[in-house]
Amino acid sequence: MDKYNIILLGPPGAGKGTHAEALKREFGVEHISTGDMLRAAVAEGTELGRQAKQYMDAGKLVPDEVVIGIVRERLSANRLDRALFDGFPRTPAQAEALEEVAVEVLLPAAVVIYLQVSDEEVVLRLSGRLQCRKCGAIYNTRYDQLESGSQCPSCQGEIYQRDDDQAEAILQRLRVYREQTAPLIDYYRKRGQLVEVQAEGSTIEAISAEVAAAVRGAAG
Ligand code: AMP
Repeated sequence: MDKYNIILLGPPGAGKGTHAEALKREFGVEHISTGDMLRAAVAEGTELGRQAKQYMDAGKLVPDEVVIGIVRERLSANRLDRALFDGFPRTPAQAEALEEVAVEVLLPAAVVIYLQVSDEEVVLRLSGRLQCRKCGAIYNTRYDQLESGSQCPSCQGEIYQRDDDQAEAILQRLRVYREQTAPLIDYYRKRGQLVEVQAEGSTIEAISAEVAAAVRGAAG
């Protein structure tokens, strides 16, 4: 397959952003993270950012029509050969919209990778998660000698903790995931598009290798 799209599905903290980096390097996919796009809009203070911020800070989903709109815009702005969706779709309505847009821009679905992680692990990961404001690199206080305010080891940008990685918002995001996003697991399984990967209990490299093998298997 020359042109295709890949979807990374899983709860917050499953490692979608981390594995997306490895897939970008190996398959040359364009990483489309709706969370990153929305955070950029918030940082720039655009109208979209102002609308989205209240939902994001509360750990709720930004309304479907807003998110579908930014994905549609991104896909029609320049023709991509390979897209990797991270954090999108998050509701059945978004999944249906993606199917429509994918047909329009000629990016057939290759595979949906479901990163499986327990709730306990999600809470541990997110409460220690740190991110670089400049390059977006993800770190964790469990493994890295860094804290909010440190300098990013790779670009010297500022390391910070996301507002929605505070305890209360984490639990809310897990609830939202279970109610609105988890139904997509069955949706894609029924279509024969789902590959499940156990995304905890081994090293990031070992999990990334499994994710890459699933993409190779589906995209050829
Ligand atoms: P993420 O970085 O993917 O964890 O997204 C952070 C926050 O952005 C989420 O908790 C939502 O408030 C919002 N968001 C990101 N992607 C979507 C989406 N596909 N649909 C609705 N809201 C989203």
